[in-house]
Amino acid sequence: MKIDLKELFEGQKNTIDIEVQEPYKNFNYYNEEISFSKPVVFKGQAYRVNHEVFLKGIVEGVLLLKCHRCLAPFEHAITHHIHEKLTVRNHEQAEEDELFSVEDYMLDISDIIENSLVLAFPMKVVCDENCKGLCLVCGTDLNESSCECEKSEIDPRLLKLKDLLQQD
Ligand SMILES: [Zn+2]
Ligand SMILES: [Zn+2]
Repeated sequence: MKIDLKELFEGQKNTIDIEVQEPYKNFNYYNEEISFSKPVVFKGQAYRVNHEVFLKGIVEGVLLLKCHRCLAPFEHAITHHIHEKLTVRNHEQAEEDELFSVEDYMLDISDIIENSLVLAFPMKVVCDENCKGLCLVCGTDLNESSCECEKSEIDPRLLKLKDLLQQD
């Protein structure tokens, strides 16, 4: 979605309130399909101070993720604060000065939201810091029960590899 900021850049207006919902179905993050339990929302304002134009606001959403240890689905709420200086210069020139480019006065709010999702994405995709995960041998969810598998036993395939490595 794009928002026309021409009046702001030309000084006819000093502020423009922006409230946008992105009804993402899916979002691809490093080949992982992420879904959302409700639309991602941007709430904020573009404003003009001393002939310069800024954007500030908050991106909020709830990601539906799958725990990398136990595979259980869980929700992860994100809140990302945005404060950017905007420029009408083109993308390459803008990037050098770390400004956000608004070509033809059109602010691409979807782009801003997408960046926020990437920046706010959790480092570790786990349902809980203490999630015990699944047993690698029998697949039991170790958060719910335990199993009889011998954890210290070395996989026979690894033993063979160990022999090979020790040959030279
Ligand atoms: Zn888990
Ligand atoms: Zn087991």
